[in-house]
Amino acid sequence: MKFTFVTLFQNIVEGYFEDSILKRAIQKNILCIEYINPRDFSSSKHNKVDDTAVGGGAGMVMNPQPLYDVLNELKTKDKDVHLIFLTPVAKPFRQNDAKRLAKKNHIAFVSGRYEGIDERVIEKYADEVFSIGDYILTGGELASLVICDAVSRNVSGVLGNSDSLSIESFENELLEAPSFSKPKNYENNCVPSEYLKGNHSKIRSLKLALSECKTKFFRPEQLLKHRTRKSYEK
Ligand code: SAM
Repeated sequence: MKFTFVTLFQNIVEGYFEDSILKRAIQKNILCIEYINPRDFSSSKHNKVDDTAVGGGAGMVMNPQPLYDVLNELKTKDKDVHLIFLTPVAKPFRQNDAKRLAKKNHIAFVSGRYEGIDERVIEKYADEVFSIGDYILTGGELASLVICDAVSRNVSGVLGNSDSLSIESFENELLEAPSFSKPKNYENNCVPSEYLKGNHSKIRSLKLALSECKTKFFRPEQLLKHRTRKSYEK
């Protein structure tokens, strides 16, 4: 699977792929990363990519011309490339999106900077727009990395043990039950005794109860979704 990062700040993004699971996936040719800097496409004398906002307002806005040229070229080279714009003015990115997007062959992330991207670019080119949360970042690079990471975990072959995907938080709307490592007793704090007895059906029931408890506390709306789906399935 290929990811293209359209960004003015390649160096912010590339460090992320220099270690760990995603580095290995790149070495195994499961993932491939490309960077495009809109500044290299600017037709202005000083490679400008931004200007003041038409109609007034604080800050600069990214011009349409460099991005039109970048995205036209991307679409010409690969008509199936899926163009994702990162912006707070969008639906929130969710785990279901990560799973769905993992089936694409090529995703390009378009990161905004300054006060954002000229709306005409988004209107013309975006296949999807995503926000990663209700807060404002300086640029879209972190948001695109968040999505790239979440999608990559769901690409076949990226994780050593793909079983871990099916038991993670959000798989059944619920947050995951607490996990424990060894030793069983650490500074007089023991793991739940049921986890130690080897009765897998009892462990499953306890984990479900703990998982519902965590979800009720942290994300009550997710518990409601889970219960609604369960009652609908009956
Ligand atoms: N003026 C914009 C607004 O109020 O909606 C914020 C612009 S922000 C300073 C600059 C860029 O950061 C955006 O164009 C976008 O690419 C990225 N960005 C900021 N917050 C984001 C978020 N929550 N999710 C996704 N991208 C975000």
